[in-house]
Amino acid sequence: MSLPPLVEPAAELTVDEVRRYSRHLIIPDVGMAGQKRLKNAKVLCVGAGGLGSPALMYLAAAGVGTLGIIDFDVVDESNLQRQIIHGQSDVGRPKAESAAATVREINPLVEVVVHNTALTTDNVMEIFSGYDLIVDGTDNFATRYMVNDAAVLLGKPYVWGSIYRFDGQASVFWAEHGPCYRCLYPEPPPPGMVPSCAEGGVLGVLCASIGSIQVNEAIKLITGIGDPLVGRLMIYDALEMKYRDVKVRKDPECVLCGKNPTVTALLDDYEAFCGAISDEAAEAVSGSTITALELKAMQDNGENIFLVDVREPNEYEIVSIPGATLIPKGEFLNGSALERLPQDKRIVLHCKSGARSAEALAIVKNAGFSDAVHVGGGVLSWVKTVDPSLPSY
Ligand SMILES: [Zn+2]
Repeated sequence: MSLPPLVEPAAELTVDEVRRYSRHLIIPDVGMAGQKRLKNAKVLCVGAGGLGSPALMYLAAAGVGTLGIIDFDVVDESNLQRQIIHGQSDVGRPKAESAAATVREINPLVEVVVHNTALTTDNVMEIFSGYDLIVDGTDNFATRYMVNDAAVLLGKPYVWGSIYRFDGQASVFWAEHGPCYRCLYPEPPPPGMVPSCAEGGVLGVLCASIGSIQVNEAIKLITGIGDPLVGRLMIYDALEMKYRDVKVRKDPECVLCGKNPTVTALLDDYEAFCGAISDEAAEAVSGSTITALELKAMQDNGENIFLVDVREPNEYEIVSIPGATLIPKGEFLNGSALERLPQDKRIVLHCKSGARSAEALAIVKNAGFSDAVHVGGGVLSWVKTVDPSLPSY
């Protein structure tokens, strides 16, 4: 399927632009007309992280005239393994600003629009409406569904990508011409079922593999060349070194882009829609959450506790709280963890940030350990408030 170009061409290219983009101009399919379309294009990149880094750098180099960058986060040392738009001296700096500086260095002819803020239901429609095309580099389901819903409601295409360990996926969602993200994934996964990159890790270079595919598709949509990834899901396995694509059909029953849509405006709360933690976990942690400092005090006072780290062994190796016994969450889910818990001690659970330990706490309490608690904020909070000399990850 080929589609008409998304963007009208700019009136002309300057002499500087002709020199800079000469390797594009001599490709017959791109040529002067294609480069003028790129110059006129307004592209927003959601997130200046793993996918946003290579995406922004190649969009800038390609001569996309206006590049929007939205990110609320600041650069952390643990980002630098893959977020190559940021450097050592950017640690602590807002990602949107750091990314904008790199974009200007790559191509000063690009107009950069910095949105140093979180994308929310209050601003997403207004921000998106200023762009022709969105590149989605988000790493969480709540934002992903919000990006999809806003793009469909505004009739805009967006290029989606996702990464985890050695696996990547990409597609173009454009309800006018094909399916939307909800056609592919009508429901968010159950909370806690799909680990994030922060929990499970990601091979740094995978970001470039998927981010460059996203830019490739953006350029094709803007200039109207080739066969866009509309209605297809591209799946990449870096260990097998295999790419394959599967057809994704528009779902006539899709609640958003189907024949009789029931979602006709943004949801009020995408976090709640995706459920940061399950209802059982939310109930379990209510009144049974302690802080890292409170845990430290319990240890210092010699209280009779049994501290359990429910993360994975490789995470435990990176950093762990002194005195913690490692029993990964999976052993709580299959029930084998329960026989390892002492009956005569108070059970204290923790994980990286508190989501997994909340799920485990529900299981532990159900098994009769009624005074069990978990540590809100997990080991990250421990590093921050108790022992900053330990590494974060
Ligand atoms: Zn749909």
